[in-house]
Amino acid sequence: MLAESLKGKSVIVTGANKGIGKGIARVFARHGAKVLVVGRDLEAAEATARELVAAGGTASGFSADVTRLEDMEEMAKAAAERHGGIDVLCANAGIFPQVRMEDMSPETWDEVMATNLKGTFLSVKACIPYLRKSGEGRIVITSSITGPTTGFPGWTHYGATKAGQLGFMRTACMELAKDRITVNAVLPGNIVTEGLQALGPEYMKGMAAAVPLGTPLPTPRQQVEVGGSEGEGVQPHMTRTALDGSRQHASHHLVHLRAGTQQPPSLEAPLRG
Ligand code: NAP
Repeated sequence: MLAESLKGKSVIVTGANKGIGKGIARVFARHGAKVLVVGRDLEAAEATARELVAAGGTASGFSADVTRLEDMEEMAKAAAERHGGIDVLCANAGIFPQVRMEDMSPETWDEVMATNLKGTFLSVKACIPYLRKSGEGRIVITSSITGPTTGFPGWTHYGATKAGQLGFMRTACMELAKDRITVNAVLPGNIVTEGLQALGPEYMKGMAAAVPLGTPLPTPRQQVEVGGSEGEGVQPHMTRTALDGSRQHASHHLVHLRAGTQQPPSLEAPLRG
């Protein structure tokens, strides 16, 4: 079902030069979509695009900062020119510097707001005319369980943006329904990405210990593929839905247990389409 519906679609994934975004981009490309891989680091975006192409997909890299409207407009234009329009926007770019409130500068607060929340708004805003033309536009926002569901010390700013993304979604989907554009969100739990690993070994150890079944934390590939295999996020009638990461975690752990594999996931594992 997923493969059928994605073939030939033009997809933008922000924050796709690594981490969860890269996992999302890989799945779209493997199912025949044409993917614009977006991040500020052009070299990394192009390297990711080359990996997708080498695996038989259609993709190209683009450098843009989600905090800047001009960049988002250029990004949308590039996707339309290179891939014939825009059908799907994955507003995934995000940052999560960990700092407790008392030590947090207003500048750090603003940076997280600008990237995670304003960046979601700007990327969506820039893509609306193209998604409208698509006739079946899809917006998928990467939120988090942190904010909407849980909290964690050091992430007042982050949690506020991730909860804010859901507030944004609930009105955006109403404004865009007349154009047959759906707006949904995914709420991942802990996924082993470059960004998560940068929080340090103590954090990773603590989070791994918090998994009740004791299975390893999922990688982007496992997270995206479990979600994707359920076919969710691409249902034409579905809008304003937040896919809860705790359920995805449960699915992942079941898959993992069935497969009988207990090896900790590694980012260095070969990235096969
Ligand atoms: P990551 O490994 O640090 O990757 C972040 C991505 O966002 C990179 O591609 C980065 O590329 C891009 N990015 C950051 N700031 C940007 C900006 N201003 N403009 C354009 N691109 C920007 O992080 P991740 O773990 O994959 O997280 C991705 C998303 O998932 C985030 O929204 C995060 O909140 C969410 N999430 C992650 C987890 C987790 O456990 N990993 C859990 C819940 C939710 P450049 O640096 O080149 O710009």
